[in-house]
Amino acid sequence: SDVGSQKERVVTEEEWLQKWEMGNIGFHKEQGHPLLQKYLDVLLNGRSGLRIFFPLCGKAVEMKRLADMGHSVVGVEISEQAVKEFFSDHSLPYCEEPVPEISGAKMFQSTSGNISLYCCSIYDLSSSIVGKFDGVWDRGALVAVNPRDRQRYARLMISLVEKNSSYLLVTVSYDPNKHKGPPFYVPESEIKSLFG
Ligand code: SAH
Repeated sequence: SDVGSQKERVVTEEEWLQKWEMGNIGFHKEQGHPLLQKYLDVLLNGRSGLRIFFPLCGKAVEMKRLADMGHSVVGVEISEQAVKEFFSDHSLPYCEEPVPEISGAKMFQSTSGNISLYCCSIYDLSSSIVGKFDGVWDRGALVAVNPRDRQRYARLMISLVEKNSSYLLVTVSYDPNKHKGPPFYVPESEIKSLFG
C-alpha cells in the first residue's frame, strides 16, 4: 500500500508528554502484551541474567516481570510521568540521578538495582552510556518513531545490541491512508532494509 501519506507526519515530544498528562495512553497494556508472553522463549533462548532493553518503554509492565526473573532491564522514555508511574504502579522504591553525559537527562533506578529507566530522548543514548543488550522488546517503539527518523532509530538500535542478541519487534498492519498514526505502518520491506 501507499505509505506516502504518513511520511511527513511528525509527533513532537511535547505531544507525547501531553498524551501522558491527559491519560491518553490507550497503548498501555495493563496485563502485558500477549506477544511477549508467546515469544518470551525466543527472547531469552534459555539464557539467564540477560540485559534487556525496552526502547520508548512507557510503563510496560514486563519490565517488572523480566526483572523479577533475574534479568536486568533498561528502558528509555521521554515522559518523566510515565517513568514515575511505572515505579508507583508496582510499588517499587527507586532513586533518581542525573546522567552526566546527557544534559537534562535523569536515570531512575529501582533500589534493587535491576531496573534502570532513562528519562530522555532515545536519540541521546549510545552504547558508551547504556552498554549493549542481549535482548530487545520493541513494541510501540519503531512504530511510534516519526517516519523521517526511522533510519536513525534503526542504526542506533543496531549499535546497542550484542552479536548474539534477540530482537522482538511488533508492528501493526493496516491501510496508512485510513489512519494518520502513531502507531505508524512500517511495511516488512522497510524493516528488512532498516535492519538487514
Ligand atoms: N513501548 C510502550 C510505549 C509505547 S508508546 C508500550 O508498549 O506500552 C511510545 C512511547 O514513546 C510513549 O510513552 C512516548 O512518551 C515515548 N517516546 C516518544 N518519543 C520518544 C523519544 N524520542 N525518546 C524516548 N521516548 C519517546
